[in-house]
Amino acid sequence: MASAEFLELIETELAAKRSILRQTSLRIWANPEVCFEEHNAHDLLCDVLEDGGFRVTRHHILQTGFKAEWSSRGSATPRIAFVCEYDALPEIGHACGHNLIAECGLAMAFMVKRVLETSDQIDGTIVVIGTPAEEGGGGKILMISAFDDIDAGFMIHPFGGGDRALNGKTLCSARFEGIFRSDVDCERSVHVSRDLNRKTVARQSSMDAAVVAYGHLALLRKTMPSSWRLGVVMKPMESNKETRLQISYRSVKGVDMRPLREKIVVCCETAAQCTRCEFEYSHTKEYLEQWPNHTLTARIGEYCTNFEEDMELVREGKKRETQLLGSSDAGNVSQIIPFVQVFPCIDGLANIHHKNFTDVTKTAAAEETMLEVAKACARTAIDLLSDPKFLEAAWSELRARQLEEFSESRNIDAHLSP
Ligand SMILES: [Zn+2]
Repeated sequence: MASAEFLELIETELAAKRSILRQTSLRIWANPEVCFEEHNAHDLLCDVLEDGGFRVTRHHILQTGFKAEWSSRGSATPRIAFVCEYDALPEIGHACGHNLIAECGLAMAFMVKRVLETSDQIDGTIVVIGTPAEEGGGGKILMISAFDDIDAGFMIHPFGGGDRALNGKTLCSARFEGIFRSDVDCERSVHVSRDLNRKTVARQSSMDAAVVAYGHLALLRKTMPSSWRLGVVMKPMESNKETRLQISYRSVKGVDMRPLREKIVVCCETAAQCTRCEFEYSHTKEYLEQWPNHTLTARIGEYCTNFEEDMELVREGKKRETQLLGSSDAGNVSQIIPFVQVFPCIDGLANIHHKNFTDVTKTAAAEETMLEVAKACARTAIDLLSDPKFLEAAWSELRARQLEEFSESRNIDAHLSP
């Protein structure tokens, strides 16, 4: 447990940095930048960390990714990461509150730094990792090597609609795009006479292929396990020669994502064959399900009152984890290091990814809730730095889960780099 002295230091540091933290969050909020375009947020966060005494690597791995480090001495271990997100949603701005995630990343880093600077009993390195493009770009997947030398990581994501989760388990997710083209062999289409306009023939063929594929996918949806999800949108293209299917696919477990994708490919390829269309596809990297590290979340729950209900359910053995309907690229991180992304509630009505949530993510009340949890995470991080047994317990839990979850695929490495 963190001593009363450490708690006092944390509170003092938070009070000292409160104004700069608020300004940073509000500036990111007022200038929403989408996936991979977060140039101003990147520069701002790097500046604040540099001014706060961190060694900053700008443009780390990605143009808008960064890493900032501070060590109590030399290259001290353990290395604890605090993660910032800062991308916004198109048109509705910070409706997922990533400005608050960034603010909490900084807050946790500053609080723990103050304790390390003051205490001569604890050593370690604080690493702030700036991960862009969570909304669709899979920034953390692209930057996964940034977590290779990290011993544990923390991130705080706001939730709304009265929902909160200490042990939230996200869904796996990815997007698939299938393109049907009909400019090859279209004149031999058995359905259409040669007298018809060639462009019209071509359009009908690629549309036929997409419709047949849609039918296959609709049947797949009926017969697939209930832990899988499939969403399909058909897009005829202006060229008249191609029709696209945009498919989002999800599953409860990462090991199911590849088999699900393979079934989608079969649905589309057979449709292309019977309509004599060309077919090609691409897919995004897969967001894996988040494994909340219970060793860490239990301690966070002890240090703040935000998750009392969750703590009660866990204590009574009624619910170990909360299955969430959303996905996060932090899931991929949580499968390689002990990691937490906790979800405090900042509004009883507005929900994330809705316009009215954008108004909530700039309020002082939302910030207050988030920073309460940031304090609890900072205290838990200090426990990890000062108690090797606590850190080892977090790793033991992760290793046991890897063995359990990957026993189906029997190949951990292959699973983690699909
Ligand atoms: Zn989000």
